[in-house]
Amino acid sequence: MLRMPEFTLERPRSLAQAIALLSEHGPAALPIAGGTDLVPNLKHELFTPSVLVALEHVPELRGVRVEDDGALSIGAMTRLAEVAIHPDVVARAPALAQAASLVAGPQLRTMGTLGGNVLLDTRCQWYNQTYFWREALGFCLKKDGALCHVVAGGQKCVAAASNDTAPALMTLGAVLELEGPDGPREVKLDEFWVSDGIRNKKLAQGELLVRIRVPAQRAGHRGAYGKLRERGSIDFPLLGVAARVDVERGAGGDERIAAADLCIVALAARPLRVKRVAEALIGKSARGPELEAAIEAVADLAYKQCHPLANIPGDADWRKEMVPVYVRRTLFAAVTGSGPVHHV
Ligand SMILES: Cc1cc2nc3c(=O)[nH]c(=O)nc-3n(C[C@H](O)[C@H](O)[C@H](O)COP(=O)(O)OP(=O)(O)OC[C@H]3O[C@@H](n4cnc5c(N)ncnc54)[C@H](O)[C@@H]3O)c2cc1C
Ligand code: SF4
Repeated sequence: MLRMPEFTLERPRSLAQAIALLSEHGPAALPIAGGTDLVPNLKHELFTPSVLVALEHVPELRGVRVEDDGALSIGAMTRLAEVAIHPDVVARAPALAQAASLVAGPQLRTMGTLGGNVLLDTRCQWYNQTYFWREALGFCLKKDGALCHVVAGGQKCVAAASNDTAPALMTLGAVLELEGPDGPREVKLDEFWVSDGIRNKKLAQGELLVRIRVPAQRAGHRGAYGKLRERGSIDFPLLGVAARVDVERGAGGDERIAAADLCIVALAARPLRVKRVAEALIGKSARGPELEAAIEAVADLAYKQCHPLANIPGDADWRKEMVPVYVRRTLFAAVTGSGPVHHV
């Protein structure tokens, strides 16, 4: 049985108190939200904090609301189960609601939060293991060692960003509202990532994610999320595809694509935005052979730009062949409003 290490639990009642506690204890302290990722990581001795600062009772991190400008503001402590079914999220950010609905299983979505999902540590089959297992292998660059088991001779960790909601939020143009000892700041989610599996986000020491803001979308906004995984009931993504396909009615009354985006997770250290998707889709009909040809072109772009590695389970060649399959299905699901795309 894996045991929990000893730590002190702090329970602040305000954002200011939480930030003060994190500043006071420095690198010895970590925030804990739902704990669904942090607790297994503590048991695996991947993190060894002596203080945990629970975010459970911090009111500033709670609640879903629509701002005056139509933006959706979601508190970092909002549970994934709520994000998945909240009427404002479903209506304004369908790809996000669908991605949240496919994270892990029901119990984990009941505890796990949107903030914890955005800030999820990268994953690797050589890293998310017990201390005993990792020690037997000589550890690795990400923790306690000096070599990478995925890229022979590699000097950079390529553990995979595996958070389902990240690509969905990227297609929605989400902004993170952060606050730390130096005060509040905002960063576009696109600009938050770093291509380094050891630490793939620009989050300062002691800084907290307070809220996630999804700007108002155009009237014809459509989105979907598609997820490949071994067991539909619980697993992390082997591939997570978020699509945005906004549609407008043209002068002739036909529906045409007005905006498009495609972001993919579970490849490398940061979520990937597939390039030239807007060029391939904007202006095309939202139905029939013209749509099918445009989607086929995007599936081909994604196939060429995505390079799954042996960092997470699932044969990398098979995962590559699944890229165009899931891109095609997810784009059709976005246009037709029939997502999410997954198997059970
Ligand atoms: C069996 C299993 C299956 C899973 N499957 C999936 C899956 O399919 N897809 C997926 O995306 N995830 C999956 N997870 C991981 C996890 O359940 C989710 O990612 C969840 O959303 C994490 O949220 P949390 O609130 O539990 O985060 P926590 O575990 O509490 O925290 C995660 C990290 O974020 C930090 N943190 C949390 N909130 C804040 C904040 N507001 N400000 C600053 N730092 C913060 C913590 O310090 C920690 O480093 C799975 C986990 C398990 C155990
Ligand atoms: S990719 Fe995996 S094996 Fe390589 S350094 Fe990162 S965690 Fe370790």
